Amino acid sequence: MNLRYIFKEANYYRKVNGLTRAIKKFLLSQTFFSRIVNTEIYNFFYAGIIKRKISSIRPRILQIENTNLCNARCIMCPHRIMKREKKVMDLASFKKIVENVLKYEKIERLTISGFGEPFLDVNFLKKIDFINEKYPDLKIDIYTNASMLTRELTDNLLRKKIDRITFSINGTEKNYGEIMGLNYGKTKSKVLYFLERKKKTKSKLLCNISLVIIEENEKDVSNFIKFWSPLADSVRAYVPSDWAGALKNVKIISKKRLKKRRWPCFVLWNTVTVDVKGNVIMCCRDYESNVKFGNLLKNNIKEIRESKKFKILLDKQARGNYFTPVCAACDNSFDSSLDWIC
Ligand code: SF4
Repeated sequence: MNLRYIFKEANYYRKVNGLTRAIKKFLLSQTFFSRIVNTEIYNFFYAGIIKRKISSIRPRILQIENTNLCNARCIMCPHRIMKREKKVMDLASFKKIVENVLKYEKIERLTISGFGEPFLDVNFLKKIDFINEKYPDLKIDIYTNASMLTRELTDNLLRKKIDRITFSINGTEKNYGEIMGLNYGKTKSKVLYFLERKKKTKSKLLCNISLVIIEENEKDVSNFIKFWSPLADSVRAYVPSDWAGALKNVKIISKKRLKKRRWPCFVLWNTVTVDVKGNVIMCCRDYESNVKFGNLLKNNIKEIRESKKFKILLDKQARGNYFTPVCAACDNSFDSSLDWIC
């Protein structure tokens, strides 16, 4: 991995998460100090940090699925097998949910993401306007496959106050169509237009380009990074999730994480995840919304997070009991050795 790329990514992480966390993450993942992670002495101190933080930590991220309709057919996404009703969250419900959560929690970041393509929502820009006007300090994060971008939408997005946009591209000319079921040439030119306008308008919006590494694109990862890295603020290639055991056909490239120790899942404490119907669910791994803790169109977030069902889950996690629905089969938890300190 070239140094320039590593420093660029570190700088991007600093812009998103702040300097202190960036330094910790850089030291513990990219330098000599990475060797101490998961050692006995590290685990001893890490367990102590978790114990200290766990009773006082509050959610900082609100993740809302504005739609679960999607125009792509990604082979590593459970959308293809998802059975829940497909719809778009209406503007009034979106406002009600945001107001509900922000009344009780000090949310810093709103992530608009779920199992859908957010730009299929005709009220998408109205939702952004609402946030910009009512909660100007709330950082907005968008995840999209970029295929629905038009020149007009690009120019509109660049005029709004948005902190970060992630374009999930997941392939190159050779394999993008097979992996995502979309047209590579069209998506590429839309993203290039976006990046060109971002540069011209000197927009501060951070642009991340991501790829999930699977067997079909594994050999192209370095070319992917080489092409997009000089153009975007960040390029990330990830190993995929198997969505808590749901996708048997996805060949996991790296097994390294399975050797790590499992820790309480930071997501449960740090993030409020809301599906398209307003249900508070555990996290995005529960793509069918099988485990619901309440609905933000009926209950307030305080009641939901203080409900017996939610408290039992947190308590089990805190005591290292991960044998609960979805979590038991989740592979995300094995990446968690830095979560509580970075
Ligand atoms: S352990 Fe996995 S399934 Fe459970 S809350 Fe964390 S990310 Fe979600």
